[in-house]
Amino acid sequence: MHLIIFGAPGVGKGTQAKIISKILMLKHISTGDILREEIKKNSEVGLKAKSYTEKGELVPDDIMGEMVKHAISSPEAANGFILDGYPRSVNQVNILNKILNELGISDIQIITLDADEEVLVERLTSRRQCSNCQSIVNLKSIEGENVCPVCGKENTLVKRKDDEEYVIRNRFQVYKETTKPVLDEYKNEYPILKITATKSIEEVTEDILQKISKQN
Ligand SMILES: [Zn+2]
Repeated sequence: MHLIIFGAPGVGKGTQAKIISKILMLKHISTGDILREEIKKNSEVGLKAKSYTEKGELVPDDIMGEMVKHAISSPEAANGFILDGYPRSVNQVNILNKILNELGISDIQIITLDADEEVLVERLTSRRQCSNCQSIVNLKSIEGENVCPVCGKENTLVKRKDDEEYVIRNRFQVYKETTKPVLDEYKNEYPILKITATKSIEEVTEDILQKISKQN
């Protein structure tokens, strides 16, 4: 089974990818993770990538593609994979198409975790981080006034910069702008399974499992 997952910021895409990969025994391929792995291993492609990351530059698409190909053809992906955070552009779609062709993989299913922007903004702006134990909590899920539910300290819950409304709206905008052309490339080729992601983690997982076709 071969899945590609997309998700608006804050919908728990990484979390779902991890859970689904465990349940279906797929390799979870997150570009951030494979980049770190290849650099740590000092592999040829890892060293190439490192020369860019060291300068604070983006890793070029062809090098990222090589790493994705390694991951897809690794033994851990024998059962399939769930790609998380890739492809992000039409150029990356073309590179991935070439890789999948070479490896004879055509049974791709696309999962999109969708959420209403206003619901997401409300959810994310009510997030706080405890300055004592670093736990992330949602103000809506706690009762007392500014008491950390994890460590019990008072007045430690602060809003992170990432959770400011304008930051969230900007990330949402970037997501929409970059994901739409990628999904347009895929919409006539592969099934796109739209999942509403504003439910609990367990419910979203259940929805994904219900929708993906297990024929392969
Ligand atoms: Zn705490």
